[in-house]
Amino acid sequence: MVDYIIVGQGLAGSILADHLLSEGCKVLVYDDPLLSNSSKIAGGLYNPVTGRKMVKTWKAEPLFNYLVDYYPKLEQNLSAKFLHDIPIYRPFISAEELNEWMGKSADIDYSQFIKEVHSASAYGDQVNDDFGGLLLDQSGYVDTAKLVEASAQSLSEKNSLVKEYFDTTQLKLAEESASYKNITCKAVIFCNGHKALQEEYFGWIPLRPVKGELLMIKTEEPLKVIHNRGVFVIPQENGICKVGSTYDHNNLDENPTLEAKNVLMGKLNELVKFPYRIEYQLAGIRPATKDRKPMLGFHPKHNSLMIFNGFGTKGVSLIPYFAYQMTQLLTNSGSIEHDVNIERFFSLT
Ligand SMILES: Cc1cc2nc3c(=O)[nH]c(=O)nc-3n(C[C@H](O)[C@H](O)[C@H](O)COP(=O)(O)OP(=O)(O)OC[C@H]3O[C@@H](n4cnc5c(N)ncnc54)[C@H](O)[C@@H]3O)c2cc1C
Repeated sequence: MVDYIIVGQGLAGSILADHLLSEGCKVLVYDDPLLSNSSKIAGGLYNPVTGRKMVKTWKAEPLFNYLVDYYPKLEQNLSAKFLHDIPIYRPFISAEELNEWMGKSADIDYSQFIKEVHSASAYGDQVNDDFGGLLLDQSGYVDTAKLVEASAQSLSEKNSLVKEYFDTTQLKLAEESASYKNITCKAVIFCNGHKALQEEYFGWIPLRPVKGELLMIKTEEPLKVIHNRGVFVIPQENGICKVGSTYDHNNLDENPTLEAKNVLMGKLNELVKFPYRIEYQLAGIRPATKDRKPMLGFHPKHNSLMIFNGFGTKGVSLIPYFAYQMTQLLTNSGSIEHDVNIERFFSLT
């Protein structure tokens, strides 16, 4: 008997498991290593000001206040280092943009997230920034592959990880419990990313998967910030940088393409001035949703089935805060807010 079975050990399953374990719950996580896992390839950026129009991201204050405390605690729990608190630098492309950000830096809504507005080139030896640029605070990246690996190790040590496919045809549902291959639990929680669409109980949810591709490059240039305009360039170890990413709603296979490579290289060459070499290319599928908000909560017909999914392009910033809400719900200490509650889609069933 366990309290919860979690299906999927990407970022969502790993972070939800950590929250439930911290509350004293017993969990058993199923993860099929043969299936794709977008967390193992993600850029891992957390960025409070996003999009082409560069606006403050949805729920920026609660999400970012939570994550800056949470990831260091998770690093301790998992005895691993994966949080990299590095400013993101966005070069301006016009004097108008510089003026706009000069104004915004005095705006109380934005000042918490701005480290500096550079009115002249600050990283001109590395990128094209003749009009200056915006240096963001409370930003950086999480090495999501390392986090998932450290979580797998920790769950294995607790005998809480089964590395195999979770087959819903073997699931038996009762009013207040579920059982799977002789293991009974209060609920099965699906954290299965875009594979949810092929699954029997939650296949109806309005996920809108988006393929994304990245280039891994090598450079001798010592980079101290994440350059981000058109593409992001995340400096990792030994001169390796992650450059991404593309968005494709139509081709949803998981193979790298020449087309994406050319798009990324084109944007990279517009941004950076330093020489680099392409090492390899990665592709994955983001579990995005039509309304760009995650989906949490109970199945409309079965009390012992739940979902924790739909983290789309922003899993790193969304998952910790909403894992906390989900855990509050499961320990009867709080509820899930309406905007993310799967109830909003019950009319689709
Ligand atoms: C190119 C790219 C770049 C990205 N960059 C960023 C970024 O910079 N910042 C950011 O925040 N996010 C980024 N993302 C998005 C991020 O990857 C996702 O938000 C997040 O990883 C989703 O995590 P997840 O756990 O929901 O899904 P996944 O990581 O896909 O995990 C799902 C898991 O479920 C398992 N599974 C599914 N079905 C079963 C089954 N039946 N039995 C057993 N196991 C099963 C799979 O094996 C997998 O391990 C990026 C994504 C891509 C593709």
